[in-house]
Order: sequence, then C-alpha cells, then structure tokens
Amino acid sequence: MPSHDQLNGRMMPWTQPIVLDGAVVACAGCGAYRHWLILSTRDQIWLRCRQGHQQQEIRLDTAWYGRHAGPADAHHETFEDCLRHLGH
Ligand SMILES: [Zn+2]
Repeated sequence: MPSHDQLNGRMMPWTQPIVLDGAVVACAGCGAYRHWLILSTRDQIWLRCRQGHQQQEIRLDTAWYGRHAGPADAHHETFEDCLRHLGH
C-alpha cells in the first residue's frame, strides 16, 4: 500500500465507473464503484474510494494512467496534500 507520508506519485479524481474486462470495478471494502481517486505510484495503480479504502488494480498500469491523466493532474509532496487538493 502506498505510504501516506510520501506519495511519490500522482493521483487524479475519477468520477465515472471503471470498466475492465467487461465488468465494473467495485471497492472491496464498501462496494463503491464511482468517485475514485486513482493513484499512480511505484509502477502500481491503486484505487481509493470515497470511504478511504484502497486497493491495487493490477489490470491498470502507469502507461494507462499517463494516457488518461488530464492537464489538471498535479504532483503532490504528500498524500494528505493531494487529498486536500482534490477535496477529499
Ligand atoms: Zn470503499
């Protein structure tokens, strides 16, 4: 799991459902399927729901992230900075 102190990566909000292999990705903790934060760190992709659960999504990679990250994507020093920036 990514460190909460040093994110050392990027994240972006993702409000729409994520469909992989024809199925909607749901949070293992609460079943949420929208309003994700997508984290790209250490060559891994993690999904974080509004409730704060995080799970790695091995079907996505940093190249996928790079294709979808918009111009608003920003690098933040810490995880908490980033969450504040995104209004979480
Ligand atoms: Zn959840």
